[in-house]
Amino acid sequence: MKTHYRAVVIGGGVVGASVLYHLAKFGWSDVCLIERSVLTAGSSWHAAGGFHALNADPNIASLQAYTIDLLSEIEKESGQSVGMHMTGGMTLAGTPDRWEWLQSAYRTFQSIGIDDCRLVTPQEAGELCPIMSTEGILGGMWADREGYVDTTGTVHAYAGAAKKRGAEVIEHNRVLELHQVEGGWQVVTEKGTIHAEHVVNAAGLWAKQVGRMAGVELPVSPLNHHYLISDTIPELEKLDFEVPMTVDLEGFTYMRQDQKGILLGIYETDHEHWMMDGAPWEYGFELQQEDTDRIEKELILGFERYPALQDVGVKTWVNGAFTFAPDGNPLVGPVRGKPGYWCACGVMAGFLQGGGVGKSLAEWMIHGEPEADVFGMDVARFGDYAQNKRFIKETTGQFYTRRFVMTYPNEQLPAGRALKKAPAYSDMTAAGCRWGASWGLEVPLYFAPSKDFVETPTLKRSNAFEIVAEECKAVRDGVGLLDISGFSRFEVSGAGAEAWLDTIMASKLPKPGRARLAPMLSGEGKMKGDLTVFNWGDGTWWIMGSYYLREWHMRWYQDHMGDDVVLRDISDATVGFSLSGPNSRKVLENLTDGPIADLPFMGCGAFDIGLIRAKIGRLSVTGELGYEIHCSAVEHITLREMLLEAGADLDIKEVGFNALLSLRLEKSFGIWNAEFTQGYTAAQTGMDRWIDWDKGDFVGRDAAIKERQAGGPEQILVTIEVAASDADASGYEPIWKDGTRVGFVTSGGYGHIVGKSLAMAMVDRNVAAVGIELMVHIVGAERSATVIEASPYDPTGKAMRG
Ligand SMILES: Cc1cc2nc3c(=O)[nH]c(=O)nc-3n(C[C@H](O)[C@H](O)[C@H](O)COP(=O)(O)OP(=O)(O)OC[C@H]3O[C@@H](n4cnc5c(N)ncnc54)[C@H](O)[C@@H]3O)c2cc1C
Repeated sequence: MKTHYRAVVIGGGVVGASVLYHLAKFGWSDVCLIERSVLTAGSSWHAAGGFHALNADPNIASLQAYTIDLLSEIEKESGQSVGMHMTGGMTLAGTPDRWEWLQSAYRTFQSIGIDDCRLVTPQEAGELCPIMSTEGILGGMWADREGYVDTTGTVHAYAGAAKKRGAEVIEHNRVLELHQVEGGWQVVTEKGTIHAEHVVNAAGLWAKQVGRMAGVELPVSPLNHHYLISDTIPELEKLDFEVPMTVDLEGFTYMRQDQKGILLGIYETDHEHWMMDGAPWEYGFELQQEDTDRIEKELILGFERYPALQDVGVKTWVNGAFTFAPDGNPLVGPVRGKPGYWCACGVMAGFLQGGGVGKSLAEWMIHGEPEADVFGMDVARFGDYAQNKRFIKETTGQFYTRRFVMTYPNEQLPAGRALKKAPAYSDMTAAGCRWGASWGLEVPLYFAPSKDFVETPTLKRSNAFEIVAEECKAVRDGVGLLDISGFSRFEVSGAGAEAWLDTIMASKLPKPGRARLAPMLSGEGKMKGDLTVFNWGDGTWWIMGSYYLREWHMRWYQDHMGDDVVLRDISDATVGFSLSGPNSRKVLENLTDGPIADLPFMGCGAFDIGLIRAKIGRLSVTGELGYEIHCSAVEHITLREMLLEAGADLDIKEVGFNALLSLRLEKSFGIWNAEFTQGYTAAQTGMDRWIDWDKGDFVGRDAAIKERQAGGPEQILVTIEVAASDADASGYEPIWKDGTRVGFVTSGGYGHIVGKSLAMAMVDRNVAAVGIELMVHIVGAERSATVIEASPYDPTGKAMRG
């Protein structure tokens, strides 16, 4: 062991070994992995080693696909067998809704280029897995590249391949303390102290403690998980092939062959947390006692699905723990305020995702940014609120229990809620508001006409369709009132404020009393934000964006901070409402004698609104005349009451974000995580029209210019009209032209005013012209679609500017 390394990876499970391998592969050989015991001594040794294609987040599904390809590569490189059994795999659907979902998931895979899947009938499923009862199965999805590996062999293969590239593996050496020092971290271990420029927390079951060593409280907890391995099954002995890895979603089980028996894993609906503060240091190769009472329901279903289990004994029980983040995805990346401290933990499926995690993290550490859009596993997708133990317990428990439970896009799940409430929450609830959650904050979805209204979970248009239609109509015809506490607001001030904003934003900056749409780019020219910058004219500026990106954006701002800049996240202290619709100005005029009528489109300023000194911006996401009115949190209730009263004779109606999403689609206004992601360049999304090419240097300038000089992107955003009847596009549905895949939907929905099913889509440029006929799969069904002019509602923007 040396006293200095460029990077120290803490933890020798599958994830740490993969990070080490990728660091070495991408050029950092001065790296070591430190393991408390021996390689695999956490969750990794007792995993079932299975890998499958499905993941609800398509970006993570892509990284899973990468991992599957990588497994044979590391075997070759290291000379260590990974014990690959590429049996193929099946995911089974046992309800009509699930079958529809599986068919759309199959199409989503096509969108992201995973082409080795196909749908199978129950009969085919039975033939592919002859020991399985097909009772109740409506269909399945087959994937060629699914199967299982030997877990110990795989960890050693990653580590062996890393060692061949110059990395070191040091076992029997616990990391005891971490101290932030000049130029990196002091890593105090049982065998001595090391100076490292970077440390990686890949401590698996102990990630919580290794977080705390650096003052980081990670939203992660272990949960127990069972599988059994059966005795030899005579039917399997007779087969000349291995049965496929099979996931029975309605049965809560996964199954793979294990020698001539089977391994049956169970996602317990009655879940159990284990050592929420991290495993004991002496824990390693032990297991928990099996608890068959707790898993009885799932076991019965499993034994019915694989009837041979009823005739043979159980050879081995495994009840071991592995870690979960609140949404079940990994926690990867740098931690704000801790330069050189990186996370690679909370990885629920290390053998499936470890490769992608290692690759992305190594790219991040070496090049400053990962190649793929990894927001879905970025540790900065959570904020401080997620450090709360009960929040972690509820959310991880909910994820675990629902791992194989069908979740509908319009379904609201209860865990960790209601956590943050804007002050007018109770009054709005009394007015019928139905809530969703964004980054712990309750945000209004729509206002139900009666207390008894229950929205039916569905993949198609829900019974809230007409409610949302009424809200849209109210905005277009009169005036809609929307709680906009769920936007982020960063206040920028200080002598260096303007210069800093000019560097991190690609757009021109607004003049005093003006606001401006501002794309923010990474050094590679990829999108980092679709923001609005306000110049209040008094030396203070605001950056407004998506509430759930607060930590992610704050990390970016701090990493790119300028001199003499004071940056404050005021998102929870400053809240507000927006008014939009032709009557919105009249509502404000009833409350102010200030020159509100003189406020131009994209203008902003301070006004007396009734009793409140409010900050107002004249802009709207609905495409109507609109105002965003900001006040301090303590004034939120009063602001709502005053606006409702002032609008009483002007057809004011409270509306939610579901209406906003429909209205913005009619204007072809993109939103983050759909049309705009860090996977796209500004030119792909059309945001390049806001870039100020003539100003001096800004982050991402060179890359954006290079893209322009190279003739622009291959795919661009368009608006399409879909011949849909009962379901609208939602995102990632593939788009075809004469049988060739030419793009995918970024988001979709129903335009209640234009009376059309609409979507925005990223398509090849040669099919982006208005009038081109395409085909799209919506909830698995083929629908024709046509490229239309952007902004099907009010294309000239008269209403908004009027
Ligand atoms: C029953 C069961 C079945 C599973 N089946 C599958 C499956 O089929 N497919 C799949 O992909 N995943 C499966 N998993 C999940 C899989 O086991 C985990 O995702 C994976 O092992 C996580 O790996 P890791 O490297 O993050 O953590 P771990 O394997 O927990 O590794 C962390 C390592 O860090 C070391 N460490 C911790 N603290 C320190 C310190 N201070 N100093 C030095 N070293 C330290 C530990 O000793 C340990 O070796 C299963 C899990 C269980 C429990």
